[in-house]
Amino acid sequence: MTETCDVLVVGLGPAGASAAAAAAARGSRVIALDRRRAPGRPVQCAEFVPAMIAAHADDVARSERQRIEAMATYVEDDPPDPTPDFRGRMLDRAAFDAALVARAVRAGAEVRFSSPVRRVAADGTVLLSDGARLSARVLVGADGPRSVVGRAIGSVNTALVETRQITVPLAAPHAATDIFLSARIPGGYGWLFPKGAIAHVGAGVVPSERARLKEIVAALHARLVADGRLGRDILAITGGAIPVGGMLRVQGALGDTAVLLAGDAAGLANPVTGAGIAAAVHSGRLAGEAAASGGYHEYEEELRDVYARSLARALSRRRELLASAAPGKRELRRAWIAYPEYWQ
Ligand SMILES: Cc1cc2nc3c(=O)[nH]c(=O)nc-3n(C[C@H](O)[C@H](O)[C@H](O)COP(=O)(O)OP(=O)(O)OC[C@H]3O[C@@H](n4cnc5c(N)ncnc54)[C@H](O)[C@@H]3O)c2cc1C
Repeated sequence: MTETCDVLVVGLGPAGASAAAAAAARGSRVIALDRRRAPGRPVQCAEFVPAMIAAHADDVARSERQRIEAMATYVEDDPPDPTPDFRGRMLDRAAFDAALVARAVRAGAEVRFSSPVRRVAADGTVLLSDGARLSARVLVGADGPRSVVGRAIGSVNTALVETRQITVPLAAPHAATDIFLSARIPGGYGWLFPKGAIAHVGAGVVPSERARLKEIVAALHARLVADGRLGRDILAITGGAIPVGGMLRVQGALGDTAVLLAGDAAGLANPVTGAGIAAAVHSGRLAGEAAASGGYHEYEEELRDVYARSLARALSRRRELLASAAPGKRELRRAWIAYPEYWQ
């Protein structure tokens, strides 16, 4: 038996929950699946969103845990370069994802957790690990960087950054995101993002350096403990992959099933900063609207209009940085958004 619906969403992160809500609000019969047991858990995120995301999700307000006012960028061991007026919010990401899922349910979507998708067949049928089969008029792939749905239409995130993040006590209140650029963190950067009395400290690197992540994050932690800014205790550890290869082809077909990709599955995370929450919420909403209306080509065009330019700039800066075996301070600055060279 194959269960059917109008719109089948795989993944209930910010992209999938936004897609499910938008399609259900337009009258589609929506089923949305996630392999996790509950929304947003375990959290695999540093939880920072730019202030402007509020335009896309008022759920941000309820999930907000701290305001961010500025950014401070440390290049190697130099004193920090301040970027005032870099505003954003630190979220409780699990609460944020849960709020988006609740919104989808209120709109009429049927959400199912503990439902891992094993495979998508060539005719668009979705096969779950427990043997269940589902098919739909439109399949929305919002299943993250290693999307099973994307793979079925040949849209695969081949460039990834691997991350590790620890959560530690913060010695004194802090209202900036601190960024650490160094040749010793290849293809990525280190971060300290404050969240009330705690902070996330992490780093992302090219996959070939993944084995060094533990030591890189431990060194950053030790430096910040020595500076008196952080406590020694490690309260939580997380990590995960971030797509950094830019936007993929986001629509296709499998038999009679139209396929749309959104969020990380569509390659919308920024290749330099790794930020992807805002783009996931936005693209998810657009994908849900397109799934309900049939405007599949318009969906791809709108995403290209909004994201192509900034993704292309980030990609080109990232490639320049990777081309240098031992980047100096000038190369590190040119590849970071705080510096005018990045925007030139
Ligand atoms: C360590 C780390 C820190 C980050 N920090 C930030 C930050 O501070 N700010 C920011 O903007 N971005 C950050 N990001 C990126 C951000 O988390 C992603 O861009 C964002 O989560 C993308 O949302 P999404 O809905 O596309 O995908 P996801 O949030 O990854 O959701 C995908 C969902 O699909 C489900 N799924 C996957 N495969 C299957 C399957 N086979 N069957 C069923 N379900 C499946 C998953 O369980 C998951 O719930 C960070 C990423 C990492 C790894």
